[in-house]
Amino acid sequence: MNTIIRKSLLYKSRLGFYCINHVQGCHHGCRYPCYAFMMARTHGRVSYYDDWCHPRIVANSAELLAKELIHLKAKPDYIHLCLTTDPFMCGYPEVTDLTLTLIALINCHGIGCSILTKGKLPIDLADHERFPADNLYGISLISLNEEFRRRWEPEAAPYSERISALKSIHDYGCETLVHIEPYPTPNLVKQNLEDILEAVEFVDHIYFSGWNYNSQVKQFPNYQEFYSDQTIIVRRFCQQHDIQCDA
Ligand code: SF4
Repeated sequence: MNTIIRKSLLYKSRLGFYCINHVQGCHHGCRYPCYAFMMARTHGRVSYYDDWCHPRIVANSAELLAKELIHLKAKPDYIHLCLTTDPFMCGYPEVTDLTLTLIALINCHGIGCSILTKGKLPIDLADHERFPADNLYGISLISLNEEFRRRWEPEAAPYSERISALKSIHDYGCETLVHIEPYPTPNLVKQNLEDILEAVEFVDHIYFSGWNYNSQVKQFPNYQEFYSDQTIIVRRFCQQHDIQCDA
């Protein structure tokens, strides 16, 4: 796997929380489009989509992070992995190994991690001795339809595999999240949101939001009303299942 060297790793994102991105690019190649790819192209870090889909690991990540954690003035509540890549990218065991090393390092400093992936969360994460802090383990899930996944998230993990990996971690007592965003309108895929919610009824948190940056969504008549209705469904489901809701 190709590598790059960076000067820093840990940063405070515009969203207000700390984050690390220890890989440049992402093999999952989402076509929503991927906001991280658009930003990387704007800033000249990658040239083409194909270039983005051939990720480069940040070879000095662990060394940088170890120094940056020591120099933090105030301990953050958590550090997020990742905003501009996927920490458990399919087909890249080197990324998984490095991600696990970095989470363990962060936890060692008494800081939890929030993790979001379209890959499969490894069961190693359920090892509370290696990962002692209160981590939040999340998957992105906007459909159960594999044809849709192959069209929009071509190299990400099949939905059933994402869910079953999350369920395994949940069964070991870990805190779990499902991130339902960007949720598609029916002109992109016909589906029942309740089926998706039922498939992940075991989780502790659900985040729901629409698809804000694709013009096809606006071609669906009354798309805003559609999203209002779906939000009500999510809120009601969370209330009935005692799930923390962000919708
Ligand atoms: S998984 Fe995330 S970072 Fe990777 S291509 Fe998809 S949207 Fe972009």
